[in-house]
Amino acid sequence: MRAYLVAGNWKMNGSRAANGALLAAIKAGLDRCADVETCVCPPSPYLESVGTAVAGSRIALGAQNVSEQDKPGAFTGEVHAAMLGELGCRYVIVGHSERRALYGEDDVRVAQKFRVALAHKLTPILCVGELLAEREAGQTENVLERQLNAVLELNGIGAFANAVIAYEPVWAIGTGRTATPAQAQEAHAFLRGRLGNRDARIAALTRILYGGSVKGDNARELFAGADVDGGLIGGASLKADEFLTICAAAQAQVQN
Ligand code: PEP
Repeated sequence: MRAYLVAGNWKMNGSRAANGALLAAIKAGLDRCADVETCVCPPSPYLESVGTAVAGSRIALGAQNVSEQDKPGAFTGEVHAAMLGELGCRYVIVGHSERRALYGEDDVRVAQKFRVALAHKLTPILCVGELLAEREAGQTENVLERQLNAVLELNGIGAFANAVIAYEPVWAIGTGRTATPAQAQEAHAFLRGRLGNRDARIAALTRILYGGSVKGDNARELFAGADVDGGLIGGASLKADEFLTICAAAQAQVQN
């Protein structure tokens, strides 16, 4: 069985004081979701202090980005996967739509980041998702297939035994507009099917998260899809009560 995962992407938010208060409140409420795995992905300068704060708790540490370079060296501003490992990261987000759109990360670079992450024992959370214009043009599946294939071609299906996928329709990220539960399930089933064409066992094991304006009041219906294994949460992960309500929605699915 796939364990639900709820991962918080803090993006470029936080401060030492705010992070401490947020984590203390999340830790205090986590007994509401005993069977759900959780993770927080703070900005890199806070990885060490957040790692210390979550040590020994049920909250895993994740990074928001990693360099595609496998050899350390003259790459100003980049962070190597081994450094993230040293700081205690278990997960790293790769291919978030903001990285693709604002920092020019293409499918090939995303696939390289995925490879380097795995090589250094990090679990990549691979983000895929279509733009609104692509959905309206009936291109959703083509886009998902292209993004997924780039990673499969470089890394092989076996790599997905240690990876997570996040389906994040770009039009739903930070907009307050979510995919309907049916749209989410359809995309997740498509992605699982593409993995399944290569290896049914790995397809059945791979967790596929939904991301895009998940909140405490819509998580339960979004997580009800058979192929939805939790969420990648942006804005709502910065509020302890919202994040915990989302975790509790995942817990409710476990108990169903
Ligand atoms: C995200 O950043 O991955 C995300 C899903 O953001 P939000 O929940 O704010 O839409």
